[in-house]
This record gives sequence, structure tokens and C-alpha cells, in this order.
Amino acid sequence: MKQTILVTGGTGYIGSHTCVELLENGYDVVIADNLSNSKRQVVDRIQEVAGKAVTFYEVDVADEQALARVFAAHAIDAVIHFAGLKAVGESVEKPLAYYQNNLNATMSLLVVMSRFGVNKIAFSSSATVYIDPAPPIREDAPLGCTNPYGWTKFMSEIIITDWQKTNGDNAAVLLRYFNPIGAHESGKMGEDPQGIPNNLFPYITRVAGGAYPHLNIFGADYDTPDGTGVRDYIHVVDLARGHVLALKYLDAHNGALPVNLGTGLGYSVFDVLRAYERASGKEIPFVIQPRRAGDVASTYADPTLARELLGWTAEKTLDDMCLSGCRWQSLNPNGYED
Ligand code: NAD
Ligand code: UDP
Repeated sequence: MKQTILVTGGTGYIGSHTCVELLENGYDVVIADNLSNSKRQVVDRIQEVAGKAVTFYEVDVADEQALARVFAAHAIDAVIHFAGLKAVGESVEKPLAYYQNNLNATMSLLVVMSRFGVNKIAFSSSATVYIDPAPPIREDAPLGCTNPYGWTKFMSEIIITDWQKTNGDNAAVLLRYFNPIGAHESGKMGEDPQGIPNNLFPYITRVAGGAYPHLNIFGADYDTPDGTGVRDYIHVVDLARGHVLALKYLDAHNGALPVNLGTGLGYSVFDVLRAYERASGKEIPFVIQPRRAGDVASTYADPTLARELLGWTAEKTLDDMCLSGCRWQSLNPNGYED
């Protein structure tokens, strides 16, 4: 039977790509997003790309009553919970805003799910919950965080795990993402960060688009092959597919399972820069700067568990990530415009 999935944060970067994968895999999709970091136009793009309709609610997931109205209007089978604030630096400046938004959203959601007898959830966690990211990182590596954003992910994992234990039918998958980049191959959907991007990939796309004169490379003296930081970049569409497979897993299992979604490969800042130059045909000027506070030299996933339990592996290459990101940037130089 056709299932209906509630996607919180569904107009965001990862959520929007996941909505398309869900629609293409025969699910009905209901989105709840307060548009605090996304635009309403994304709903049209999702529908255009998938050729199917979604139901959109402009709702704060932390608002229990408003959320209950969404559950009352639809027979929800499972939830994918993306809604949350995600900027590490901002979370250090505004910790209470992060704890309030991210934790209240998770708790309200679980309260309302319980009230309506919905017992399956896939949660957007992050590799930031690993305190000592000595790669390749397995799910049983030590946990702990260095900033409020990370703690909201860590605490949400605990809250969801405790909720899961209260009912034998409850089931949760805690998806620990590595570094999602790239865009939909249609060029109609991609990342649209507000303000100056903190992350490497959107910054590179903006340099290529002429918004900034050069990339600042934060440290070229790390103990890595070329001295720059190494990360596990994962194509956002591969990541989105991982959510569809997580839902299938939830159909057949309960418990609360943490799973890495990463490629298992590490690429340096220069690797990404050169790949983007190949994809765009443009030179990306750069300036070597001091190391960024809090950065580690190298981190990447051990993705074995996702392969064994979810049947998921990343399929797309770094060149695919750069080509799709470049297409999105050149077709939408101002992102999703108002
Ligand atoms: P995003 O900001 O593009 O999407 C999040 C969406 O949630 C936005 O559309 C925002 O408007 C919405 N939202 C925030 N608070 C809300 C609330 N209280 N009620 C309703 N909607 C709310 O971010 P993204 O990159 O798509 O990330 C999705 C999730 O994955 C986030 O939870 C993020 O922390 C997590 N994550 C992201 C990354 C990454 O690098 N992008 C890495 C690891 C984990
Ligand atoms: N980085 C950089 N310049 C930037 C942004 C990031 O050199 O403008 C580097 C950063 O130091 C790290 C890598 O790129 O080695 C990935 O950073 P990002 O913020 O994208 O991801 P995270 O560090 O959160 O994994």
C-alpha cells in the first residue's frame, strides 16, 4: 500500500532532494517547514522535477498544536525529520536559539507522533557527534561534541532513542551524515545558503559564479597528502536515496539504529577545488589562510553498516558532485529567487 511520509524541513537542501526521491519511489509526501532557512519556491521545483504533487504546510515543528493539525489531516506512516538550524558558528553565538529550536522540534514531533500512533522516524544526525574523528569512523566510535549545534544532534539522538524504548513498535534510524554537496542533475534544485557560506563547496560555487574573488583555504599545513583538510563528501542525491532505504529498513525492524551515510573516501580541499575547476572550466583562485578553529585534519566514514543493514552505498563520484553543483549554480546564480 502507498505510504505517506511527513518530511519536516522538506524545503531545505537535503529535504528537497529527499522529497524527489520519495515521490519517484511511489511515496506520498507531506512537508512541514517554517521556511526559516528555505523558500516556498522549492515546493514548485520539487513538484516540477518529480512530476508529482506534494502537500506543503508552513509550520513550526516545535509548535505541537500546529503539528497535530498536520497529523490529523493525513494518515502519516513515517517521518523523516530534517527540520533544524544547522550553522555551527551561529550556534556558538546563539546557543539557546539552537537548543530551543532543534530540541523542541524533536520533542514536539515525538509527542505528536505518539499521540497519532506514528512510530517510525528517520532522523538527520551528523558526523559532528563523533568526538575523536579518527577515520574511518564506525558508528561505535566515541561520541561527544564541541559546539551547541553538535550537542543538539547528540541530544536528539538520545531523546529519540529513549522514546523508541517506550513502545516495542517504535523504530528509529539515526542517520549520521558526512559532508553533503552537489545538486540535482536537473539543475533545478541545489543548495541555497543565505549570507556568506561557511562550508567549502557553496563557497567554491560562489567564487566560480563571481560573487567572491577567491577561496580562502583554511590551513595547508595539516598532516594530509597535500596539507589541506580531508573530508568525506557525499552527493546529496546519494544521501537522499539513503533515506528511502532507511524507510524500507524501518518497515521491517524496530530499535534505534545509528548509521553513517558517507562514501568512505576522503578528499582534500585541493581535490574538491580541482574537481570543480574541471567541471566548470573556470580557474578558482585561492589564498592560503591560517587553520580554522575547531577543524580536524582528516575525517571520513566507515560506511559498512549502511551497506549491510540498509543496502545503501554511495554511487556518485566527486566529479558528479561538482558537475551537478556547477549546473545548479550556473542555471540559478541567485539560488531560489523570491
Ligand atoms: P536546511 O537549512 O537547508 O534545511 C533545514 C530546513 O528545516 C529548512 O528548510 C528550515 O526552514 C527548516 N526548519 C528549521 N527549523 C524548523 C522548525 N522549527 N520548524 C519547521 N521547519 C524548520 O539544512 P540541510 O542542509 O538540508 O540539513 C537538513 C538536516 O540535516 C538538518 O537537521 C541538519 O542539521 C542536518 N545535517 C546537515 C548537514 C549538511 O552539511 N547540510 C550535515 C549533517 C546534518
Ligand atoms: N574549508 C576551507 N575554506 C572554506 C570552507 C572550508 O578551506 O571557505 C575547509 C575546511 O577547513 C575543511 C574543509 O574545507 O578542511 C571542509 O569544511 P566544511 O566547513 O565544508 O565542512 P566541515 O569542516 O564541517 O566538515
